[in-house]
Amino acid sequence: MNLQRLAGPGKTSSVSFEFFPPKNADMETQLWNAIRRLAPLRPHFVSVTYGAGGSTRDRTHATVKRMIEETQLKPAAHLTCVGASREEVNAVIRDYWAAGVRHIVALRGDMPELGKSYCAHKDGYQSTAELVAGIRAVAPFEVSVSAYPEKHPDSLSLDHDTEILKAKIDAGATRAITQFAFDHEVFSRFRDRVVAAGIDVPIVPGLMPTTNFKGVARMASRCGAIVPQWLSTLYEGIEDDLESRKLVASAVLCEQVRVLKEEGFDEFHFYTLNQAELTFAVCNILGIKPEPHNSVTA
Ligand code: FAD
Repeated sequence: MNLQRLAGPGKTSSVSFEFFPPKNADMETQLWNAIRRLAPLRPHFVSVTYGAGGSTRDRTHATVKRMIEETQLKPAAHLTCVGASREEVNAVIRDYWAAGVRHIVALRGDMPELGKSYCAHKDGYQSTAELVAGIRAVAPFEVSVSAYPEKHPDSLSLDHDTEILKAKIDAGATRAITQFAFDHEVFSRFRDRVVAAGIDVPIVPGLMPTTNFKGVARMASRCGAIVPQWLSTLYEGIEDDLESRKLVASAVLCEQVRVLKEEGFDEFHFYTLNQAELTFAVCNILGIKPEPHNSVTA
């Protein structure tokens, strides 16, 4: 599929955007600038992360609440079960429902101590599949879960990861959002693998639109994503040149969606890092144009 066909008539892609809850007033301004820019693209949903071990519980809640009150966006609140009892997690689920949230991204989470192996809370949900079932028992939320096309760092094998994903879907999740990856074959191979295992929910590729290559490489090494050599090579020599990095990043992202569309993907999840520019540009390339009456005035 060439660029002409990508932007031309045909099945419109569906997109979703991830944000993180701001820590201070400046970050709040940055987040809302990004939301104002991206809301007119009418994403299928926007998701708001939950800091490690629930550290942003109140900020995540405040962010999704403000989205509900001030925009037409449909927020999906992330929720982890690490380090909390079932009752504590259920209280957060009930608060989300009361605030008008109807979609949760259910996650296990990581231990707060960096590098410590996972250990479930003794009175807590013992797995993400249990958490998914717990959320659905509290209220009829839509539930999305994570997936790891290049294997989760704790994983014994991709087969085991697939079993874990299947258990989460069997428990009631209806969408899997993947960890970010850069090689399109990674997404296609993974989709084929999970489809062969009987998983029939949308597998939504997670895409990382960033100009900070060093930062992404650091993040990737922590979460098991592979930074291919061709990507490092593209950024060589432009470490101090933001404008060139922006152009390279948009070319990378554009090529990713072009090939993924060709391979049959039509839902994409963007890890915006609370920045709109690249995501906005690539959505335009996907044929998703802003609709002014969906703008956010707040
Ligand atoms: P699961 O999918 O439940 O498990 C991940 C892997 O752990 C499995 O594939 C398997 O290898 C292993 N595993 C799980 N259960 C078992 C078992 N019973 N026995 C043996 N091995 C097992 N983190 C946050 O803190 N906040 C967020 O908001 C957040 N959002 C995310 C959004 C997305 C789309 C993704 C992909 C990740 C996100 N994370 C977030 C990171 C996530 O919390 C970590 O990757 C965590 O280590 C795994 O959580 P999970 O729900 O993905 O785990």
